[in-house]
Amino acid sequence: MRFAIFSDIHANLEALEAVLKDARERKCTHFVCLGDVVGYNASPRECVKRIRELDCPVVKGNHDEQASLPAPSSDFNELAERAIKWTRDNLTDDDKKWLRDLPLQRRVHDFTIVHATLDTPGQWSYVFNNLDAAASFTYQRTNVCFFGHTHVPMVFIRDQGVRRERIEHIRIEPARKYFINAGSVGQPRDGNWRAAYCIYDVENNLVELLRVKYDLATVQRKIAEAGLPRLLAERLAIGR
Ligand code: ZN
Repeated sequence: MRFAIFSDIHANLEALEAVLKDARERKCTHFVCLGDVVGYNASPRECVKRIRELDCPVVKGNHDEQASLPAPSSDFNELAERAIKWTRDNLTDDDKKWLRDLPLQRRVHDFTIVHATLDTPGQWSYVFNNLDAAASFTYQRTNVCFFGHTHVPMVFIRDQGVRRERIEHIRIEPARKYFINAGSVGQPRDGNWRAAYCIYDVENNLVELLRVKYDLATVQRKIAEAGLPRLLAERLAIGR
């Protein structure tokens, strides 16, 4: 089994299509989505449709939750809030119900998936350092857990203590636990504009991080045409 595991699509259809195509070319047999299908970019309906067609395990992200609520809450910054209001107006009631009903975490095969953290998944905290990761590890029952939310790919490994490493190739060893951030498909923030996702090869105990180019100019044009803030288009080009 080869799982393509991806997160934070954020209504970037071109990046999503590029990732799915790449994953198929690399012989992935299963797909898993770690949430934030919508928010920020201009193709929320198309991205929800695409993910629903995959009929794969999906967990809920904070933007999925905000988009599915009738009224804004105060949790978002101004830029995210402007985009989420536009997103709400551009999703069908059925899409919103689908987003609202997504689970916060779930088990898939021999691993766990969650958008933000395992200790308080509905509070949308960010895991950037070893201390944050240690809190999640307390609740991690499987060897491997994949998460998203920060848009920065990285892996935390627990054996004696907790340490952080960059992902490129990770060999999964049974005596350790792994909390792996798959990065972001639709709005990477690690200074690399290309879409990020992971492949988990179960038989070979291997997790790889992939980066995929996509049609950035089209995404930027759609953001402009939708009347969304220009900064959302500009940040995609620099991966921030
Ligand atoms: Zn996100």
